[in-house]
Amino acid sequence: MTTPIENLKKLLGEVADLHYTAALLNWDHQVNMPPGGARPRAMQLATISRIAHDNFVSEEMGQAIESAKQAVGDLDADSDDARLVKKTDHDYLKEIKVPSDWVADFSRITALAHGEWEKAREQSDFSIFEPHAKEIIGLRQQYADFFKPYDHPYDPLLDDYEPGMKSAQVKSVFDALKPFQIELVRAILEEGEPVDDGILHLNYEIQKQWDFGVEVIKDIGYDFENGRQDKSTHPFTTSFGITDVRITTRFDPNFLNTAIFGTLHEAGHAMYEQGIRTELDRTPLAAGTSLGMHESQSRMWENLVGRSKTFWKAYLPKLKEYFPDQVSDVNVDDFYRAINKVERSFIRVEADEATYNLHIMLRFDLEMAMMVGSLAVKDLPEAWDEKFEHFFGVRPPDDAKGVLQDVHWSSGLVGYFPTYALGNLIASQLWERIHEDLPDLQAQIEQASFDNLLEWLREHIHQHGSKYEPMELLNRVTGSGLEAGPYMRYLETKFKEIYDL
Ligand SMILES: [Zn+2]
Repeated sequence: MTTPIENLKKLLGEVADLHYTAALLNWDHQVNMPPGGARPRAMQLATISRIAHDNFVSEEMGQAIESAKQAVGDLDADSDDARLVKKTDHDYLKEIKVPSDWVADFSRITALAHGEWEKAREQSDFSIFEPHAKEIIGLRQQYADFFKPYDHPYDPLLDDYEPGMKSAQVKSVFDALKPFQIELVRAILEEGEPVDDGILHLNYEIQKQWDFGVEVIKDIGYDFENGRQDKSTHPFTTSFGITDVRITTRFDPNFLNTAIFGTLHEAGHAMYEQGIRTELDRTPLAAGTSLGMHESQSRMWENLVGRSKTFWKAYLPKLKEYFPDQVSDVNVDDFYRAINKVERSFIRVEADEATYNLHIMLRFDLEMAMMVGSLAVKDLPEAWDEKFEHFFGVRPPDDAKGVLQDVHWSSGLVGYFPTYALGNLIASQLWERIHEDLPDLQAQIEQASFDNLLEWLREHIHQHGSKYEPMELLNRVTGSGLEAGPYMRYLETKFKEIYDL
């Protein structure tokens, strides 16, 4: 006879298989598929996703969860099974509160909005996207209302990406960070020693960039036995189970940063998924616990490791073997300054570490205001430009380089942006903690040795998957909740040295 927990796991395993299958179809879409595949693939994905959803919110699942809840009553609340039931129950209640009419409206309106957003961005004309944005915000307000009572209508949206997090927490941390980053960027750009990054813009053969990137991510611990790398227009990480976690990357023959830091970033995401305990496979616990925690892993490898001088003491000599004509004369100090050049970029995805969070805080403020109705969608471009000027001292030249640059809102993603900044903050909090446990980490990195770092991350973060909510996990590891202090200390130390402030 199967126990209630075994029965629940069997049902959840089938839902997981469907999600992995959809992920595989999507991976193929972005990596291999000819243009003609778009139409049948959209139908295949819609079918699989609908079946996965229907299975998850089915009456059978509801009963299985109820029985499992009773069965885990006697278990340690911290056991895998008790946590699995708790997380499944949370996700289930969230999904059944959303009426299927809303889901249908949402997918129809966002599918249409995406095309109109592309057109609007191409023509740099917000008015084309405006009526669609208005519908999307309206739908998002309705969505929030399915989860009343709430402290703020933004909270139910944020919870989808950052379980348990409240917008008030995010706001108070951002409020501490904002004036500090505005002032740091101003000082860098107005008083700093100019940085020359010409060396990064020479011609770098793509195959050699690929080979160098593969050497680096093998060294840091990305496991090619349980993953693979391909090329795609937008880099991403996808999982078909703990033992098959794939990444993609892209190349710019005239800019070295694109591939190397993109590759490190995706490998950081993938190593999180590869490090989850195999016992959790095919359950809702078999994934990183939140987007913010995920981003802390990708950014740790990309920035705290990859954009450090210590790292390049080990890897600049290797880069010189791949590209003797381009970099043989550069020293590690100049190379380090070049890869960390700070600029007033209008575009978020091109932003450096010093400016990045400002792009996020701008979007967070505007989203919060739209959700409570204090900012009307028609006034969004003006509000964007004003805020941008306040943060960066300049105004975007047009909507394409301003309010229309990101795909997120056209896809209905509201509440998603903060997770990028949370990733930066969490990474720095973990980084300080890691250095307490591994006092000679910098010396290890200089020797291209990452075993202890990866082992630490596996033990404290990766293995748990989604067993703990993100802030609970952060608290277990660092003894505190979300904080801006460590990130501010990191930025200040790093950029005051680079810019001689
Ligand atoms: Zn990422």
